Amino acid sequence: MLTITATNNLLAVILAGISLAVFPARLYGANLECPAFAPPKIDIRIGPLTNKIDTTKSLEQVRAAAKGPHPSPVVGAYLGALQFGIQIDDSVRKIGTGGFCATPEYAKLKLSLGRIIYIPREFIDDPCLRSLARDHEAKHADADAKALDIARPAIESTLQEALRRATTDANASRAEALATLTREIQMGVNRALDDMTAVRERLDAEIDSPAEIEHLRTSCEGRAMPRAGD
Ligand SMILES: [Zn+2]
Repeated sequence: MLTITATNNLLAVILAGISLAVFPARLYGANLECPAFAPPKIDIRIGPLTNKIDTTKSLEQVRAAAKGPHPSPVVGAYLGALQFGIQIDDSVRKIGTGGFCATPEYAKLKLSLGRIIYIPREFIDDPCLRSLARDHEAKHADADAKALDIARPAIESTLQEALRRATTDANASRAEALATLTREIQMGVNRALDDMTAVRERLDAEIDSPAEIEHLRTSCEGRAMPRAGD
């Protein structure tokens, strides 16, 4: 059994790093095709969402961490950590031409989303600012869960496609067949993460509508607005 895990830290650049990774070209002859085997059973499970509220960061830190060009005012931050864990059966068959074909019988994908809402510690003693921050960031947290739901069918088809590519051509050795399988799955996971990020960015932009930003600016007598010198 092969196990691949990945984490999508949404405030970090890890995702871009993974996506830009260059994978080695195929090393085996293109004319060595694997016979058609039964496609693997794909099982996708989404684990329970976890939620946490963090009040240990300063307003300055939260503003610095706020993802992208969030319209002013920044009242808090949301961090989603998506974890992928994939287990794939590592069956390999030797075919008549001497090549090796990966013939996984199953692929199990487990996804879990850890959600953290940051409320600046300067807001904690101000009930109005505290709930303004919590309510706004909760909308971004909900969008993240929704993005995962929306992206689920795309994740499944990406995984199917990766498995199909990994099992089409014969490899020179058993180890190479498994390396190809791992590489295709990793690339598929990266693509699925990109798809999900695109969905989430669209939903985030909808949340930060002009009306919502106006609400953040004017609620609590405008205390969420940066003051001169901030
Ligand atoms: Zn927002």
